[in-house]
Amino acid sequence: MTTHTQLRNLGLFDARVPRYTSYPTAPHFSTNLGATQTGTWMSELDPSTPVSLYVHVPFCRRLCWFCACRTQGTSTLSPVAAYLETLKLELELIKKHLPNGIKIGHLHWGGGTPTLLDPAMMKDLTRAITAVAPFSTDYEFSVEIDPNEIDDARLDALALAGMTRASIGVQDFDPKIQETIGRIQSYEITKAAVDGLRNRGIKSLNADILYGLPGQTSERIGDSVQKLLSLAPDRVALFGYAHVPWVARRQSMIPTDALPTPEERLELFNVARDLFVWDGYSEIGIDHFASKGDGLELAARSGKLRRNFQGYTDDKCQTMIGVGASSIAKYEHGYAQNAPSTSDYQKRVRAGELPITKGHQFTDEDRLRGRIIEALMCDFSVSFSDLNTRFGVQKTQFDAFATNVATAFPKMLKTSQDAIEIKEHARPLTRMIARHFDVYAMTQEQHSSAV
Ligand code: SF4
Repeated sequence: MTTHTQLRNLGLFDARVPRYTSYPTAPHFSTNLGATQTGTWMSELDPSTPVSLYVHVPFCRRLCWFCACRTQGTSTLSPVAAYLETLKLELELIKKHLPNGIKIGHLHWGGGTPTLLDPAMMKDLTRAITAVAPFSTDYEFSVEIDPNEIDDARLDALALAGMTRASIGVQDFDPKIQETIGRIQSYEITKAAVDGLRNRGIKSLNADILYGLPGQTSERIGDSVQKLLSLAPDRVALFGYAHVPWVARRQSMIPTDALPTPEERLELFNVARDLFVWDGYSEIGIDHFASKGDGLELAARSGKLRRNFQGYTDDKCQTMIGVGASSIAKYEHGYAQNAPSTSDYQKRVRAGELPITKGHQFTDEDRLRGRIIEALMCDFSVSFSDLNTRFGVQKTQFDAFATNVATAFPKMLKTSQDAIEIKEHARPLTRMIARHFDVYAMTQEQHSSAV
């Protein structure tokens, strides 16, 4: 029996499960946690330990149909300029809570389209951020780049601001597929952005590519991957397209009957995966690839790979502070999310309060289950010694976890005295196995496909 048939017979292909960039996942945050608690968490941070800062820019000039990001379309810069003023006010509020002397170890501008900001706005935002806290000596500053929304002046401004890593949205190079998903972006435009970044000394490049798009075939995705390889990115995220029109209404523009079946999705993933591996990239977790010697690859090799809201990361900071509408912060004690709607966010900040509307305070069990899920997602295995050292887990409890999950997923796991390990053929179902440890798990329909 083939692996595909085995998996299909187990009824697992259509499972819909979270991506586990947090635990618990954001739908389980509660409104019991607000600005006061978050302010306390901020003020209790250790000033000698650098933090990560995530800045969200929720605007795009076009709204691509496939995209489920929380973002709004704009044809002018005026709402972006007003939003920037609010970001600066929020940064001042954050500064009031943070201990003196703290540094930024990692800064990420995401969205939406942060490269909609014009060069003067980029300079203004950087100045406001570094007024809150300076960069640490070994900082990393990454920016999500839309090749359609970048020019020489913006590239110059980003290089001057200290950007060290660029994350480029590609999705698919096939013009027909681009039409179907409402995102037109030629290979030439993407290459020009890559060249522009490298010419300015920005050596570290990530690229995002999607499988599971309407009309995608093995041949077409193979072609897109070859084109991407010609640009030699250091890291690639090969995400499965998540068709959730009940969450992102614009996805209803995408013809459902042209979407690949779950088995075809797995085939598309395997074709792309094989090409990356053949080209010398290392597989990282369930859906990333990194060139040899890249920070992500080194982290994976040394067991230091982690998950955060951007996916896999080698960011060493334990705290992430979210800035901007809908952004999520992670503190030692829990998560705190800013108001998702841009207007509510702006109203709260202008009223002089941290715009936190939801969050979650960790229990001891959350920490343990969150670690198990992160270990499965990053390393495909959980070790007893790790859980014992971190949480004092006893052997009987570990054995109970192992027996329970091995019974739920027969022939997919290897269990031993010290480890629960996902077998290679079952790795496409890692999110589903991880969900077994999620006590907050929701009904299958509310999440994207597991493969
Ligand atoms: S893919 Fe990028 S540009 Fe397109 S809607 Fe999403 S965030 Fe905006």
